[in-house]
Amino acid sequence: MFSNLVKYIRDNEEEIMGKILFYAQRQDYTKYTSSLKEAWRLSVAGLSNAFIEAIQVSGDDFELTPDDDYVADPAAQYGILQAHRHKERGITLDMFLGLMKYYRQSYQDLIEGSNFDKVERKTYSNLINRYFDRVEIGFCKTWAPGGQDQTVKDLQNRNRQMTNEKNKYLTMFESLSMPVFLIDKDGIIENMNHVASTVFYSGKLPGDKYYGEQGKILYLEEEFPWLSDKYREFVQSNEPGSSYDKYVNSQEKYFHVSFSKFLDVSGKFTGTIAIAEDITNRKNLEKELENLATTDPLTGAKNRRSFLQLLENEVARSQRYDHPFALLMMDIDHFKKINDTYGHDAGDRVLKLLVAESFGVLRGCDLFGRWGGEEFVALLPETDLAQAAVVAERLRAHIGRAELNSDDGALIKFTVSIGLTVVTESNCLIDNLFKTVDEAMYLAKEQGRNRVVRL
Ligand code: GH3
Ligand code: MG
Ligand code: MG
Repeated sequence: MFSNLVKYIRDNEEEIMGKILFYAQRQDYTKYTSSLKEAWRLSVAGLSNAFIEAIQVSGDDFELTPDDDYVADPAAQYGILQAHRHKERGITLDMFLGLMKYYRQSYQDLIEGSNFDKVERKTYSNLINRYFDRVEIGFCKTWAPGGQDQTVKDLQNRNRQMTNEKNKYLTMFESLSMPVFLIDKDGIIENMNHVASTVFYSGKLPGDKYYGEQGKILYLEEEFPWLSDKYREFVQSNEPGSSYDKYVNSQEKYFHVSFSKFLDVSGKFTGTIAIAEDITNRKNLEKELENLATTDPLTGAKNRRSFLQLLENEVARSQRYDHPFALLMMDIDHFKKINDTYGHDAGDRVLKLLVAESFGVLRGCDLFGRWGGEEFVALLPETDLAQAAVVAERLRAHIGRAELNSDDGALIKFTVSIGLTVVTESNCLIDNLFKTVDEAMYLAKEQGRNRVVRL
């Protein structure tokens, strides 16, 4: 019986919720009720379930008689249950009954807007009216005052429960391992957990925020200027949340910052939750791993693969902006002899010294890589052939002056031959570039070593 109506109500729970929310907001009931959408969903589901159960128990006979047994009536039972709950929460009878009228209205609106025929609509509408009457009767029956003492006891009881509940969430908030800040709509830090206070205030601001003693007013933007820009941008945006990584100079740490908005039930912005997780260890590890993957372990120069990748980027950049760059290839002269005379370890130290000396000559934006063995490459961005020749010559001379001692105290000196080219329209293919620079270096060797040849 009434299976159409039951299905219709089940299928349209979302719509009923939308309607009751609309009325509650319009009439200002949201001031006193939960701002969580889920709480409203629960009420609607509770009312619908009780209605459907009442239909199943009572059939179509919802009419009232003086001898009705409301104890056995699911509709009234629902009202009685709600009376207990709301009374404990400090809701008054008039407030509850008032809001109930709008719940009733929401169900009526749903029937009104349905495709049921006129007779059905009238029957269903009447059914809903009687159902809500029964809920209200159940509610009022229980509400009858049990004396002031009882009310005080009920309220104290409820208060205790609420305090316990609040403490449970505070404990959870405090024991989170990530620093969390609650910021109100004016940008004032309303609350922060223990870790936040330890990390950002060296524990100087204990949990005085909850327990009455009012501390100093802290504005997020004043306390954390490094958060300021992104925070403002976030608050002004329509995004519900956003996150990013940030290096903070004053702390010498990396943080993963996330913002999310607190919205009340009407969608109004009431504040922000900011979480700033210290990710320094992770970032350092990532950097270390990247270094390992891109660096030659013996000398600290870029490895061949990473140099090639960076060179590709530079080729693309130089084409886009039509800027020149120079490529330089350097090979140690008679290196085999150094190995043979002083040993492989001494040879290794020569390689390290060469790289250290080269870093001393090159600019920060230049790239220096180990091409293989005792062959090195350098990329000089924004450099034409004449400027590159000066750098190459300086490198050659500088390295030529470097010296170190072998294990048995002998002085080791060494020289390099350098090939040099710059990027032009015709040679900007990477293969061509290396062919040219290799050829230049070969010529330097052929012409007697310890010299620079440009092509
Ligand atoms: P040239 O002037 O013609 O360049 O003469 P060279 O002796 O330097 O000739 P070549 O380039 O053929 O020799 C390279 C030598 O470098 C051979 C190899 O044993 C040595 N070598 C390569 N990698 C390393 C290394 O990591 N450590 C040491 N100690 N020697 C290396
Ligand atoms: Mg060599
Ligand atoms: Mg070689």
